[in-house]
Amino acid sequence: MIPVRAYLSLLASHVQGLRWRVTAMATAVLAGIALQLLAPQLVKRVIDGALAGQPAGVLVPLATWFVVLAFLNQGVSVLATWLATDIGWRATNRLRADLTAHVLHLDMGFHKRHTPGELIERVDGDVTALGNFFSAMVVNVVGNGLLVAGIVVLLFRESWVVGGFVLAMTLLLLGLLGRLHDVAVSWWRAVRASSATAQGQVGEFTDGTEDIRGNGAEAFVQAQFTTVLRQWLPRHRRGWLGWGIMWGAQEAQAIVVTIGVYWLGARFLDAGTMTIGGIYLVIHYVEMIGRPIRQMRDQLQDLQKAGAAIGRITDLQAVRSALPEAGTTRLPSGPLSVTLDGVRFAYADEPSRPVLRGIDLDLAPGRVLGIVGRTGSGKSTLARLVTRIHEADAGEVRINGHEVSDIANLRDRIAVVTQDVQLVRGSVRDNLTFHDRTVGDDRLLDVIATLGLHEWFATLPQGLDTHLGASGLSAGQAQLLAFTRVFLRDPGLVVLDEASSRLDPATEQLLERAVDRLLAGRTGIIIAHRLHTLQRADDILLVADGDVVESGPRDRLATDPGSAFARLLATGMEEVLA
Ligand code: ATP
Ligand code: MG
Repeated sequence: MIPVRAYLSLLASHVQGLRWRVTAMATAVLAGIALQLLAPQLVKRVIDGALAGQPAGVLVPLATWFVVLAFLNQGVSVLATWLATDIGWRATNRLRADLTAHVLHLDMGFHKRHTPGELIERVDGDVTALGNFFSAMVVNVVGNGLLVAGIVVLLFRESWVVGGFVLAMTLLLLGLLGRLHDVAVSWWRAVRASSATAQGQVGEFTDGTEDIRGNGAEAFVQAQFTTVLRQWLPRHRRGWLGWGIMWGAQEAQAIVVTIGVYWLGARFLDAGTMTIGGIYLVIHYVEMIGRPIRQMRDQLQDLQKAGAAIGRITDLQAVRSALPEAGTTRLPSGPLSVTLDGVRFAYADEPSRPVLRGIDLDLAPGRVLGIVGRTGSGKSTLARLVTRIHEADAGEVRINGHEVSDIANLRDRIAVVTQDVQLVRGSVRDNLTFHDRTVGDDRLLDVIATLGLHEWFATLPQGLDTHLGASGLSAGQAQLLAFTRVFLRDPGLVVLDEASSRLDPATEQLLERAVDRLLAGRTGIIIAHRLHTLQRADDILLVADGDVVESGPRDRLATDPGSAFARLLATGMEEVLA
């Protein structure tokens, strides 16, 4: 059945504050129904009056009233539709916002399992289906249901035989449509699932255009996409077939009812139990009843989509982040200490292959740790545990002696600059403040100057208003922006995952200077891909295959000829690590 209950509870929480609109809409819908029921009664009186030879003085005002009612009815129906659509949009926009916030809080594992395109389809596509359904549901299904009920009552008033006949046929049809509907919903669910997969693939492929082209993977991508489309077509066909069956059933019922009513009318006229006006009225009502039922049938289409969408929305809402809620401990301002104690971690998709196998680390406040290791040794993963993007499987990660999971203001006190900084579409200002309007331009320019980036900044064509596309900057430049972002937040611990791509010497120099200023008075963890970067580190952590190979103060390791770090300094990064 249609999950009306789930639907209503979903919407109820999102229509608060829209009360007067809802009331106005309900009034308009009811007024429209009354007007539609009243108009044919006037026609009946005119017909019977004319046949009985009543004067024009009686008939013309009745006819005039009929015209007035028709206009009123149109006005009211426009108003009702407008209000319903308006309410639908307001309510579902709130739902969109809630879902977006919910999805943003989910753990990285969830985001790995669902492509961005799929999430767009779920947050926007499903909610839109629901919104269409809202306007349809209230105006057409509830309103039309009342209209049908009113018509049946008035038919009984004319003749209980006709009323009984129409009622029986209507119930029969509704029962049939209800049955078919159950089947059709599952068919539509399959259509929507296919559509989400296809959207997801498009998103993924557009995202990876560069890599796909570069690796000559077009044919592979094409083949994968074709597979999805091949699945989609038959499902789509079946979804519409369900709709077609319902359409056919209703048309057949309409034909039977019309024939029956004409036949009954002819007999009652002969018997003298009905007037011509009465027969007109009955036939008019029977034709009228077809329209709301037809609309309800079309709306069932929306209902089917909405039924599937509601299921998917509540499913999405029910997903809980794998990360437990943040704790209550608050970190003080100033540099922070970091302790790792036997930390083990494996990514969820390969639980049997630990990426980190027992890392110990002790970093005092204000010191800078340089992490070195070959590619894939788990350096970035380590950073993700400290910033609690992922949770350690075993062992403890502590900041200032507190478990990371106990800390309420972790995101405020720890800042991270990743290897691959993501810029959002928007101006430089938006990228620096994330739309936080309380940060003034003065402060931004101040920080840019402090980091020694003003010269680079001056090369941007429109300063803070320069628009950044999704990939308008090099990795190094994007990191420079990210530094500014971090500096604004004044964290006590900065985790810097150096861009592993080569930087041009000018950008590199800028980065160096900016890092110096960024780290002043803070604790730092730098994942170094260049030997040069390590000169700023106080302590060194050398990792290989998720294990600590060597750790200690840089000065001591550098002067100990037996250390791997000394060898690294002597021969260069590539030689030792490769
Ligand atoms: P690089 O120097 O290239 O940046 P890294 O030391 O930072 O390398 P990590 O990114 O920590 O290496 O990766 C360590 C291992 O974990 C790799 O084998 C990688 O395949 C795996 N890995 C990294 N990220 C994920 C992820 N999100 N899901 C599953 N496995 C991952
Ligand atoms: Mg890395």
